[in-house]
Amino acid sequence: MSKIKIRGICRDYVERRGKGRDASGELSNKVSVLSGVDLDIEEGEMVCILGPSGAGKSTLLRIVAGHDKASAGSILINDVEVDGPSQDNIFVYQQNGLLPWYSVWENVELGLRLIEDEAEKNNRIHEYIDIVELTGFESHYPHQLSGGMQRRAELARALAVNPDILFMDEPFTGLDYLTHLKIREEVINMHSFYQKTTLMVTHFIDDALIMADRIVVLGERPAKVMMVEKLDYPRPRNIDKDPGLSDLRDRIFLMLGVSYVA
Ligand code: ADP
Repeated sequence: MSKIKIRGICRDYVERRGKGRDASGELSNKVSVLSGVDLDIEEGEMVCILGPSGAGKSTLLRIVAGHDKASAGSILINDVEVDGPSQDNIFVYQQNGLLPWYSVWENVELGLRLIEDEAEKNNRIHEYIDIVELTGFESHYPHQLSGGMQRRAELARALAVNPDILFMDEPFTGLDYLTHLKIREEVINMHSFYQKTTLMVTHFIDDALIMADRIVVLGERPAKVMMVEKLDYPRPRNIDKDPGLSDLRDRIFLMLGVSYVA
């Protein structure tokens, strides 16, 4: 049984100003973003979604997480139809999702309100703050942290909840290059340890190649699945030293309309 079943997902938006292309390519107030997306995601899998900007990657992620409604099609998680957000799943947004008036500790604590045993709750908060190497910064507020530390706090907040599924929308956006690589490594380590089913949207092809169990490429709007590729490469991965990975990178770039990458 697949963990997530995405069946025939379509999403149209009605533009108040200006016109866009509908599913038949005509100019219309109704803009089709997704047009029949089918995909199955297995328990514990990390799936990365790539595609052109504006293809509808984030829209698809929001629909699967129950934060947006499809115009047609259905999403099943654990064989139950999704009709709204679930407390069992966590969404890590592109921009900082920490509450600025709460400390690191309080932000991580937020998702754990249902745990009544104070000692258990405190242990859990300590554990995850430690995993993301923020011990000593528990009482700091988000504005007192670097961008990378904020992202790590957010990952601690997300994972402490012990979510059934982790949704990540461009989680490395806005980070400097080194921090991006370090946090990416942390996400890989956390995934290999906790094996959370993870669906991540990114526009960084290398991130998908380094991280994913499977890569899904969406086409231009109205988007469908153009390519699904299983990555049976051992980790840690090095794209330049693995001909299979560099070949796959070339194919994805070509599919996205880039024929030469230095
Ligand atoms: P991607 O993540 O692939 O860059 P998005 O899913 O963010 O793309 O958006 C796809 C397109 O859907 C956007 O170009 C925009 O035109 C449209 N869109 C997204 N959200 C809305 C909305 N709330 N109202 C109207 N149009 C939207």
